[in-house]
Amino acid sequence: MSSHTYDYLDGNAAAGELSAIFAMDVTIAEAQCAHCGAIKRFAEAHLYMQAPGVVARCAVCEHVLLRLVNVRQRLFLDVRGMTYLSLNASQSQESA
Ligand SMILES: [Zn+2]
Repeated sequence: MSSHTYDYLDGNAAAGELSAIFAMDVTIAEAQCAHCGAIKRFAEAHLYMQAPGVVARCAVCEHVLLRLVNVRQRLFLDVRGMTYLSLNASQSQESA
C-alpha cells in the first residue's frame, strides 16, 4: 500500500526544466542510482510532475534520483540519489 499512486512520465519530460541548468541534454546521459546501483539512461527514469517541481525516480527501485524545484526565481537541484551522471562530451557542440 506504500506504492506511489501518482502517474509519471519518462525522464524525457524533464529536458526543458534541466536545460535551464545544463548546457548538455541530460536526458540522454547515463545515471547510476545511488540506492540500487542500476545504470540507465536518465530518460528511462520515472518523472513525477505533481510535486512543486519535478522528481525523477529510479525505474528499477523507485528511489529518488533527482529533484528540481524553482522557488522565487532560484533553482534548487538535488542529485544525491545519483552516484554519477555520465554525459557524452562530443554532444556539447551540437547547439546549432
Ligand atoms: Zn535504483
